[in-house]
Amino acid sequence: MATSRIKSRCVICGKEKASVRCEGCSQTFCYRHINDHRQQLNKQLDEIEVTRDLFRQTLSQQTLDLKKHPLIQQINKWEQDSIRIIKQTAEDSRQLIFQHTNEHTRAVILFRNVEHRGISSATGTSSTQFRELGHHSI
Ligand SMILES: [Zn+2]
Ligand SMILES: [Zn+2]
Repeated sequence: MATSRIKSRCVICGKEKASVRCEGCSQTFCYRHINDHRQQLNKQLDEIEVTRDLFRQTLSQQTLDLKKHPLIQQINKWEQDSIRIIKQTAEDSRQLIFQHTNEHTRAVILFRNVEHRGISSATGTSSTQFRELGHHSI
C-alpha cells in the first residue's frame, strides 16, 4: 500500500499529529491507526481472495457444464459433420480431375499412335480434326 507523510488529523482518533495518508482511500491516520487500517485492509483483501477463488471455481465448473450442454454438443456434431462433408467433396473433386487428366493423357497417346501409323491420312481425317475430336470427347 503506497502512503505519503503529511501532518494532519487522524480519521480514527481525531488527533492532529504526524500522520500517514492512505493512497487507497485518501484518508489520513496516525501511525498507530494506520497499522489498524492496514490490518483491516489485509483482512478485507483475504476475504476478496476467498470470494474470487470461489467465483473462479464456480465459473470453471459452469464452463465445464456448458461443454456438455445439448446445444453445444449439437454445434460440435454439426462442425464435425461439415468438416467431413467438405473433405469428402474435396477428395471427390480431386479424384474427378485426376480421372479427367488420365483420360485426356490416354486420348492424346491414342491419337499419337494413330497418327504415327498414318491411319489419319489413309482415312482422310486431318491431324487437326482428329486432335479436336479427341479433345471434345473428354
Ligand atoms: Zn489515530
Ligand atoms: Zn485506506
